[in-house]
Amino acid sequence: AKRMRLDKLLANMGFGTRSEMRRAVKQGIVTVDDMTIKDFGFTLDPEVADVRYDGERVVYREVIYVMLHKPQGVVSATEDSRDRTVIDLLDPNDRVLQPFPVGRLDKDTEGLLLLTNDGKLAHDLLSPRKHVPKIYEADVLGDVGTDDIVAFAAGVALDDGYVTMPAQLIIDSQEMSDDGLMSHITLTIHEGKFHQVKRMFEAVGKKVVYLRRISMGPLQLDPELSLGDYRALTEAELESLL
Ligand code: URA
Repeated sequence: AKRMRLDKLLANMGFGTRSEMRRAVKQGIVTVDDMTIKDFGFTLDPEVADVRYDGERVVYREVIYVMLHKPQGVVSATEDSRDRTVIDLLDPNDRVLQPFPVGRLDKDTEGLLLLTNDGKLAHDLLSPRKHVPKIYEADVLGDVGTDDIVAFAAGVALDDGYVTMPAQLIIDSQEMSDDGLMSHITLTIHEGKFHQVKRMFEAVGKKVVYLRRISMGPLQLDPELSLGDYRALTEAELESLL
C-alpha cells in the first residue's frame, strides 16, 4: 500500500496550498477514520483511509504535474489522427493518469509545456482574466527595431482585427543570414491568442522562423531538460502555481 502525508494529500486534492493545509490540520478540522488528526505530517494510505476536511469526504485521485521540453513536430493535443502528440512522449505509467497539455504550442514551436490531470489548475492558468505572463524567444526574419518595441508595448492589430494587450519586446541581437537580416528577440505576452507571437510579428511585417517558450507564470523551462524530455514539477514549483 502506498503512504502519503496528510498535508500533501489535501493540497493535491485541491483543498489549498501545502501551508494552508498545515494550518487547517493544526486547527483540528481534518479527521482520518473518524479521529481528529492535528499532525500534518501524519501518513496514511490515501486509497484506504476515510479522510474528511471540515466534514467533507476527501476523494483520492492520483495527480500528475510535469514540465515537458516540447520538441518540434509534435502537437499539443491528447489525440491526433496524423501527428504524434505530446502525450506520446510520456512513459505509459504517466499516460494512464490522463494528463493533458495546459494550453498549446504550435507543432513547430519548442519549449516549456505543462501537462497535468488537474483540471482546476489548468483552468486557472488559462483563464484570460489572470493574464499569466508567457515568455518566448524567437528568431525573426527582418530588422526588429525600436518602432516594434513601441508598437508591441501599445498593442498591435492582428489579421482578424484583435488588438493585443501590451507586450514587452527585447531585441537580444541581430546578424546577417542567408535569408537576410535575422533578429533574436525575447517577448513577454500576457494572453494566448491562436499563433499570437507569429501573428504579432506579421502585423509589423516580419516573420518568425523559430519560436520557443521559456517560461509560463512562475515556471521556467529547466535548462537540464533535453528536447522531448520531461520531469515532475518540484514541490516548490507546484506551490508557486497554486
Ligand atoms: N505564439 C505562436 O505563434 N505560437 C506558439 O506556439 C505560441 C505562441
